[in-house]
Amino acid sequence: MAKVLIIGAGGVGAVVTHKCARHPDVFEEITLASRTKSKCDAIADQIGGDRIQTAQVDADNVPETVALIKKTGAEIVINVALPYQDLPIMDACLEAGVHYMDTANYEPKDVAKFEYSWQWAYQEKFKEAGLMALLGCGFDPGVTQAYTAYAAKHHFDEIHYLDIVDCNGGDHGKAFATNFNPEINIREITQKGKYFENGEWIEIDPMSIHKSISYPNIGERESYLLYHEELESLVKHFPTIKRARFWMTFGQAYITHLQVLENVGMTSIKPVMYEGKEIVPLQFLKAVLPEPSDLGENYTGETSIGCQIRGVQNGVDKTYYIWNNCSHADAYKDTMSQGVSYTTGVPAMSGAYLMATGEWLKPGVWNVEQMDPDPFLKLVAENGLPFNEKVNVELPHEYPD
Ligand code: NDP
Repeated sequence: MAKVLIIGAGGVGAVVTHKCARHPDVFEEITLASRTKSKCDAIADQIGGDRIQTAQVDADNVPETVALIKKTGAEIVINVALPYQDLPIMDACLEAGVHYMDTANYEPKDVAKFEYSWQWAYQEKFKEAGLMALLGCGFDPGVTQAYTAYAAKHHFDEIHYLDIVDCNGGDHGKAFATNFNPEINIREITQKGKYFENGEWIEIDPMSIHKSISYPNIGERESYLLYHEELESLVKHFPTIKRARFWMTFGQAYITHLQVLENVGMTSIKPVMYEGKEIVPLQFLKAVLPEPSDLGENYTGETSIGCQIRGVQNGVDKTYYIWNNCSHADAYKDTMSQGVSYTTGVPAMSGAYLMATGEWLKPGVWNVEQMDPDPFLKLVAENGLPFNEKVNVELPHEYPD
């Protein structure tokens, strides 16, 4: 049994709150706090029954967050605000003496760059305090690392090639919208791509490598090589990996919109003066784009995210594909959210669940692949996202190519 504080009342926060509320035996008291309290209240109303307490917090402000943690008596903080808040919330957890988890690694506001170094640097502090920080426990990062750990535990002696393949085969009916926070999403896509090969990171121009990949139940989709944060921890924790890449699908209309926005300077994070006031173009763009949490109704199609792996077991070459498909309509029926928020929120609740029950609890700063994948994948499946697997089949695209 644990008291939990969820910070961030966006698309992902809504799913985490709905899902935690359904496990009263584990999450005995739940507080949802965010910058805008009315958004917390709207989610609490959806759930009903006075199950959720709400509060206003600016999570950039450490003393404010510490005071809220103490007031709520929370033992675990689930951070589903933005990556900018990771370090201040980790500081607040240390000061208040509570456990921490998030779904995306830290990014400084003024540089579009993400890496684990800032959060890994908290290792000793958390260990000494006897507290746990679980990093990146959404779908990707998150479940993709558990899939890799599951493959390493049950199917391989050595993993050599890893391709994470992420497809959103859905249609929300809007001309242009991002499925998670637009500012973070656009920063991720417009920066240089990167993949790991033979011990080195190879940098490429944004979206310059792409190919058609076939996704189960969806079909062929053009998929673009991006840098994604879990690659950094996976190649560290599975040193036999020779190559690790991350692919994500984008439709042509999405790319055209993005190119126009880039060309006119709307994706820039450099402040400009507008009517005597400093504004950041990308933050202004976010303000006019649809909220990820508003895309759920009438969203059709499915997401498909998984890991395609090649390696050896008992001296024999082997291929393995593990994935989940999630229907946007089913996600909406379950939690009034679209599939991308859902596929992030379900694993976040599941990670917090295993911390609360003690099954995953250990002092220090951890990535998901360092934890036992079995209870996690079981819980994620029971809560709406079962996995499929295929062993020794020809993978949808060639290795190596
Ligand atoms: P949203 O923009 O929908 O929600 C973010 C929420 O955080 C908003 O409610 C926002 O408040 C709140 N917030 C922002 N700044 C602060 C602050 N200083 N103090 C308190 N609250 C704040 O984003 P998503 O729900 O789509 O994404 C949430 C997180 O999940 C992001 O970090 C994202 O990168 C991550 N993510 C991870 C994925 C994975 O698979 N691992 C996939 C998708 C997302 P306000 O409403 O006032 O703006």
